[in-house]
Amino acid sequence: MAHDLAEIAKERGIQYFLISYVDLFGVLRAKLVPASAIKGMQKNGAGFAGFATHLDQTPAHPDTLAVPDPDSLIQLPWKREVGWLASDVYCGGELVADAPRNLLKKQIAKAKARNLQMKTGVECEFFLLARDGKSVADVYDDYPKPCYDQLALMRQYDLIKELCDYMLEMGWGPYQNDHEDANGQFEMNWEYDDVLKTADRHVFFKYMTKTLAEKYGMRATFMPKPFNTLTGNGCHMHVSLWDGERNVFEDEAGELGMSKLAYSFLGGVMHSAADLCAIFNPTVNSFKRINAPITASGATWSPNSITYTGNNRTHMVRIPEANRFEFRLMDGATNPYLSPAALLMAGLDGIDNDRDPGERLDINMYTDGHTLKNVRKLPLNLLDALRLLESSEVVRAGFGDGFVNSYIKLKMAEWNSFMSHASAWERLHNLDC
Ligand SMILES: [Mg+2]
Repeated sequence: MAHDLAEIAKERGIQYFLISYVDLFGVLRAKLVPASAIKGMQKNGAGFAGFATHLDQTPAHPDTLAVPDPDSLIQLPWKREVGWLASDVYCGGELVADAPRNLLKKQIAKAKARNLQMKTGVECEFFLLARDGKSVADVYDDYPKPCYDQLALMRQYDLIKELCDYMLEMGWGPYQNDHEDANGQFEMNWEYDDVLKTADRHVFFKYMTKTLAEKYGMRATFMPKPFNTLTGNGCHMHVSLWDGERNVFEDEAGELGMSKLAYSFLGGVMHSAADLCAIFNPTVNSFKRINAPITASGATWSPNSITYTGNNRTHMVRIPEANRFEFRLMDGATNPYLSPAALLMAGLDGIDNDRDPGERLDINMYTDGHTLKNVRKLPLNLLDALRLLESSEVVRAGFGDGFVNSYIKLKMAEWNSFMSHASAWERLHNLDC
């Protein structure tokens, strides 16, 4: 049987499987299962106490069961006797409504019913820090305008090469690696693909990068804005929609070569962008990237308004070529499953309701954005974003009340935890009041 994991283990010399799932906060949870036990686990799933992770459950809930998806199998390239598996998450015989991969698969099924398939590519920026996480790992990486700095890139050659070699080996089609706009910041790009495949790879890439960075005595972070004065970690997502072999976003006769359907999809995303901000930008820290001052390179590399443009990096949405959109709002903390689920849900809503994205803006938003009247702004903090999400009719209709209520409940608890914590900034500004 092609998908019999016990057989695959024998053929490929896999001794252990990591049966994993990603929770609502994007944390990767797993059980390490010997190959001798994989047959039962493949059928019934591995059991977890879901409430002990970021799922909306209590100790009274029955076991959460992670049923591995054999199509997601990756042999760890640096430890080939271990096979990693993403899972579908069940509880009480039902798919868990707030499990992120389940939610994405639900949106994929909705698209499939319309003969549509979304394809995505992600640009996961990350910092390489010292092991204690307090400073950039490479003490020589201090140039004020370090984007594409060859010296700083090549000082991390051993790690970057190892990661890229593994992506080549796994068949992801990696094609470029660079030093990004902040000291200690890097980006590695691989080919776009089916949305679920890219989401699973996104999860695995974060795990692989963190693990290998530790091997080299460093700590990798995808945190949105770890340093006040340096550019934050974005997670730009390139999106196209396909009917079989045909990219239905393309239309030579359309504006910038994009079809009417593409603009309706974009209209849907722009309509719900503020409501979905709590998913694209899910942490307290996320809003320090969105609202950041410009760095030495002349950009914040992140939007704060809901606008789109052609090949211009100062807006929320860029149309780099006549075949896809680049959504630039998401940051490194975004959940690899929830972000594409949100784009697909909002895009389908746009198609169903023929939503109009309005006029394209060809201005530099960093220098001339203030001249625009009536431009919708993104929320300024997580609380405002959560309130928008909570009251969004489109999101409730598209994701279901179960997911929305659970997400709001867990994220409000996080916001309340943040608010109960007096910071160093407050002591600095308020001690002598
Ligand atoms: Mg980048």
